Order: sequence, then structure tokens, then C-alpha cells
Amino acid sequence: MATTIERLRDLQNSDRIIYRLKKRLAEIPIEIAKLNDKFKQETEELVILDKGVKKEEVTLRETESEVVGLEEEIKKAQRHLMDVKTNREYAALMSEIDGFKKKISNLEEHALLLMDNVGRVKKIRKEEEKRLEKEKSGLDEKLKALAREEAGMREELSEEEKRRPVLSGAIPREMLVAYERVLKAKANRKALTGVKDNICTGCQTRLPTGTLDQLHKGADLVFCEGCNRLLYLE
Ligand SMILES: [Zn+2]
Repeated sequence: MATTIERLRDLQNSDRIIYRLKKRLAEIPIEIAKLNDKFKQETEELVILDKGVKKEEVTLRETESEVVGLEEEIKKAQRHLMDVKTNREYAALMSEIDGFKKKISNLEEHALLLMDNVGRVKKIRKEEEKRLEKEKSGLDEKLKALAREEAGMREELSEEEKRRPVLSGAIPREMLVAYERVLKAKANRKALTGVKDNICTGCQTRLPTGTLDQLHKGADLVFCEGCNRLLYLE
């Protein structure tokens, strides 16, 4: 037959398992949300690149149609050249045509820069897309692993939660109440602690003779004066 203290230690183990599982189960959804958020942010960067490309492509088309318009202007001016009567009119038209040609050459230079830029950004985008594909499969793996971990823990928790009342049912009510009272105050989930070389292993207090006597006599409810934990002899 197990002693009461042994049963209480079993209960404490069960409580610590339940506490650990619940703590981890609460962390998992936060981890999942963080992973998804990070990936979503990176995907949004792709959309920003796309917007940049689209804007430059619009500018490029505008530049090209501007060139077409100027070429029309040149043709019109060249037709006028046939009808001019004076040298002055002729020179004015020729200088107008020169001006159009200069504008076209500037626009074409600008268009080349835009094309270069669009090509460069599209290349970056493609690389980024490839990287994100890889990252997505990595993310899926991580999410699957977390889902497996969660399922395993839920099963373990439900087993442990079935076991706990069996364990606590075998403990005298008075001790159970004392145990649970101390447990509430202990962040590390340890309400029960051993005594080794006359020292409480929970708080390292050297125990007074009276307390040690009680333990040696086999009393059930002996508390540490330092940390209020239930004591047992190791
Ligand atoms: Zn103590």
C-alpha cells in the first residue's frame, strides 16, 4: 500500500503534468498566429513590388504614346516644309522639327531606363516568389508539426485529467485541502517538498527540531516554516 505522502507526490506529479500541458497548449495558437503573420507580411511585400512594376509600366506606355505623338508632329511639320514661302518660315519649321527630335530622344532614353528598371524589379519579384514558395512549404511543415504536437498534448491532457480524480480520491480530505491551499500560492506548482539533511529542499531553510520530530514520528501534515510547503522525509 502506498503511503499518503506517496499518493500526494503522485498527485503533485499529475498536477505538474497538467499544468505543463495547459501552458504549452496555450502557447501553440500564439506561435501559429506569429508564423502566419510573418508569412503574410512577406507576401504583402510581393504585392508592393507588383504595384511598383505596374506604375512603371504605365509610365512606359505613356512615354511611348508621347513619342508617337511627337513623330506625328514631325510628319506634319515636314509636310508644311513644302508650302513655306520664306527662308525664315523654313528655318522656324526646321528648328521646331529639331526640338521634336530632341524631345523624342530624351523620351526614348527615359523609356530605356524604365524598361531596365521594370526588368530588374520583375527579376527580383520572381526570385522572391521562389523564395516564398520554399518558405510556404517550410511553414506548412511547421504548422503540421504544431498540430501534431497539439493533438498529442490534448490526448495526454485528457488522460491525465481522468487520472487526477483517482489520485486525489485516495488522499484524506484534510491533506488534500492543505495541499491545494499551498499549491495555489506556489507559482512553480510544487506544494510538496522533500526534507534532506534537515533542510527543506523547497526553500533551503534549516528545519527546527520540532518540525523534524513531527516528520520522524510520521505525522501527515507537517509544513515548512519558510515556504509553507507540505514536507516529507526523503
Ligand atoms: Zn521550505
